[in-house]
Amino acid sequence: PKSVEFGAQELLEKIRILVSGEPNTENVSFQLVSRPENLRLFADETQVAQALINIVRNALQALEQVKDAKIEISAFSDSERRPCIKVRNNGPEIPADILEEIFVPFFSTKENGSGVGLSLSRQIMRLHGGQLFANSNSENGTAFTLRFPAKRNHT
Ligand code: ADP
Ligand code: MG
Repeated sequence: PKSVEFGAQELLEKIRILVSGEPNTENVSFQLVSRPENLRLFADETQVAQALINIVRNALQALEQVKDAKIEISAFSDSERRPCIKVRNNGPEIPADILEEIFVPFFSTKENGSGVGLSLSRQIMRLHGGQLFANSNSENGTAFTLRFPAKRNHT
C-alpha cells in the first residue's frame, strides 16, 4: 500500500458521499462518528475506502427487509491506541459457525454473490499490518472492525 497520513473524519465524509449512490440507502439511516474528531490514520486511503465500501454494501443488502434500518460508522482509538473503524448494522445475525467462513474467497450466501468483497477487504487490512474481523449477535446486529497498527513512537 501507498500509505499517507490523513484524518479519519475526512475518510468518513468521503464514504458518506460514495454510499449515497448505492441501492437501498433511502431506507437506511446513517450515523458517522469520529471520536476523537481529529483521529489520524496512516494508510492507503483509496484501498481503505474500497474495503469500507464493500462492507457498507453488504450492510445495505443485509438491511433490505429490515425496519428502522441503521448503519453506524465509527472511528476510534482502542485501548491499545490502535486506530479502528467499525461499521455496524442492525440487520440479521450472522450464524457463529460461518463468521470466519465469510472471509474465504468466493464464499457467499447470496444468489448472485461473488463472495470476493470480504476476502479482498481483509487482504487490504493485512497488507496494512492490520486486521478485519466481524462480530454478530441478535442484540447489537453485525459489526465489521478495521483495525490499524498503533503509531510507532519516534525514537
Ligand atoms: P458477497 O457480498 O458477494 O456475498 P462478501 O465477501 O462481501 O461476498 O460477503 C460474504 C458473505 O458474508 C455474504 O454472502 C453474507 O452471507 C455475509 N455478510 C457480509 N456482510 C454481512 C452483513 N452486514 N450482515 C449479514 N451477513 C453479511
Ligand atoms: Mg459483498
